Amino acid sequence: MNIATKLFNLKGSIPDHVELVAVSKTKPASMILEAYNEGHRIFGENRAQELASKYEELPKDIEWHFIGHLQTKKVKYIAGFVALIHAIDSLKLLHTVDKEAKKHDRIIDCLLQIHIAREETKFGFDTEEVLELLTSGTTAELTNINIKGLMGMATFTEDNTIIENEFSGLKNVFDQVKSVKAENFEPSILSMGMSGDYNIAIEMGSNMIRVGSIIFGERS
Ligand SMILES: *Cc1c(COP(=O)(O)O)cnc(C)c1O
Repeated sequence: MNIATKLFNLKGSIPDHVELVAVSKTKPASMILEAYNEGHRIFGENRAQELASKYEELPKDIEWHFIGHLQTKKVKYIAGFVALIHAIDSLKLLHTVDKEAKKHDRIIDCLLQIHIAREETKFGFDTEEVLELLTSGTTAELTNINIKGLMGMATFTEDNTIIENEFSGLKNVFDQVKSVKAENFEPSILSMGMSGDYNIAIEMGSNMIRVGSIIFGERS
């Protein structure tokens, strides 16, 4: 099956309220263009310089999402054009994105990454930290960011029960956080689900999935 067919089938199989981010990391511009020519516009990348060079090369109406861990020193490469940063995992990163967005006179949409997986990782906030951030008044100082919701990654496992529990846990956090009133906080996006677990994620309440290998093939 070619990219166009895979994309068509995938889009046909997910509900209308779920946004698809086609994760094109490591894949050449020619493959992105195949999806683009099918009418797809939202693409996800996880390397700042790779994203910047694809942005230069490809049509300007593409909506580029940054999906993985972002180092603060790399924000400058993407601040001028990125549409959504999915994985804000520290206050320091949030402040850096705000600062770089100011330089470009832009407001950058962001999601806060919540740590839900069993794996030990240093990336992501826990629920208390997010509630603390939103109620502390800090976001009022961040005039060039707009926090649009939450993002999470489930444990890499064959055990669907674990994945279900983690995603439904994140949905609960999202529902809890949504009712908080804070400046520059307009929550509507819950980004969860990848090639291996997007069906479970949608069942558990995701409205944005990040899918790469199903569309573009395995990465080497
Ligand atoms: C690579 C990546 C994806 C897509 O992974 P696939 O398994 O290829 O669908 C989604 N989210 C993040 C954060 C990624 O780094």
